[in-house]
Amino acid sequence: MEQKDLVVIGSGPGGYVAAIRAAQLGLSVAVVEKDPKFGGTCLHRGCIPTKALLHSAEVLDGVRSASKFGVRTEEPQVDLAEVHAYKRRVVDKNARGVEFLFKKNQIEGVHGFGRIAGPNQVVVSSVEGERTIDTENILIATGSVPRELPFAQSDGIRILNSDHALELETLPANIAILGAGAVGCEFASIFSSFGVQVALIELLPRILPIEDADVSAEVQRSFRKRGIRVLTDTKLGDIEKGGAGLLLKMEQNDQTSIVETELLLVAVGRAPVTDGLGLEALGIGLDRGYVEVDERMRTSVPNIYAIGDVVDTPWLAHVASAEGILSVETIAGYSGARPINYDRVPSCTYCEPEVGSVGLTEAEALSRGLDVETGKFPFSALGKASILGKTGGFVKVVRDTKYDELVGVHIVGPHATDLIAEACVALQAEATT
Ligand code: FAD
Repeated sequence: MEQKDLVVIGSGPGGYVAAIRAAQLGLSVAVVEKDPKFGGTCLHRGCIPTKALLHSAEVLDGVRSASKFGVRTEEPQVDLAEVHAYKRRVVDKNARGVEFLFKKNQIEGVHGFGRIAGPNQVVVSSVEGERTIDTENILIATGSVPRELPFAQSDGIRILNSDHALELETLPANIAILGAGAVGCEFASIFSSFGVQVALIELLPRILPIEDADVSAEVQRSFRKRGIRVLTDTKLGDIEKGGAGLLLKMEQNDQTSIVETELLLVAVGRAPVTDGLGLEALGIGLDRGYVEVDERMRTSVPNIYAIGDVVDTPWLAHVASAEGILSVETIAGYSGARPINYDRVPSCTYCEPEVGSVGLTEAEALSRGLDVETGKFPFSALGKASILGKTGGFVKVVRDTKYDELVGVHIVGPHATDLIAEACVALQAEATT
């Protein structure tokens, strides 16, 4: 009979990081994955491939503006097949890295669909048949998939989700993107740099709606300057076939208009994956589809934990990893394990201009009753930014005057996603301004 200390279901940045930490703490671990390769959404259909496309877009924009810096080049062109080849090389290299780490830490990778047959049993189904693994503990790290809209179901042809958008073989003349969160804004930025006409449609009054309002306004201004058509406060109604591909009926302030587009990318969030896991039989609670957990990622069954996109915390790879580490450190009885303070989790959007933020927005700080003061430093006043030729954007700090504590930092502009790390250290250390 096979016996493990821990079986992890799902090998995304939550599952594989948890497995490695568990092995470092001396637990015997198996990771079950239904996809052919380990690494999850982040590695194969999320963070890594989008960042590769964004890098190609950045290189393209860099070459386009080269003459401004005294460098002569020919008119650059996108070779989409080569862009995909580069993206695949990056993904494959990182996937090999995960396999190497499994081997190094003596983690058993098991291919197949994992189901929890009892509090101490995981059954793995694959083409080779069924295999039962007995285990002391189980970690659910099954992640999420693109959220579908009933009236705009993705078909991979005219209506795409983010998985499809990453694999487009040819570039359309135009694309409408529904949803202006991080994923929608990143794709808007990629397609716009690649020469595609983009319409970005958002139901809420502003794009990047969870960011500080000043950040949203700056990105919106910059997107419009780049020629991206930004439609906020706008609801998608009927979709009809016609024109260049689709006719989208848009409703904005009681006015109706038609957007004609070759493709529609639906980027309206993610849905947690729990189908077929067997949670109901175990009595594990779900809230709007998310697995319910306490502050140490424990479900209602004492030895079963859940982390990452399948629980109701921010959809971010580093959050999944941090929760994975916390859960296995709790299992192993590690004294240094601390619940996560989600107010200090950074969030990055790698569009042009980049956005990096950590902590409370000005509005959140005010709604918590803090005595708020803000400060702003524009990139236009920074010598390094003028050298790059990128002087839009700013750093905004939010402080609580009671203890002069820094409670939020919001950056939009060049290298924002790198600069934010310093702000994370400051918040984590409870720095004063
Ligand atoms: P996942 O990465 O979704 O992994 C879950 C794994 O579980 C999958 O491999 C799945 O096949 C497997 N699985 C599911 N059910 C079973 C089962 N029953 N048996 C076996 N295996 C199963 N986050 C960032 O922090 N930065 C970014 O720049 C960023 N960019 C993104 C861009 C896009 C386009 C998308 C879609 C997401 C992006 N994210 C980003 C979010 C990030 O990808 C997720 O937050 C992260 O992948 C969640 O990790 P996870 O381990 O919880 O789940």
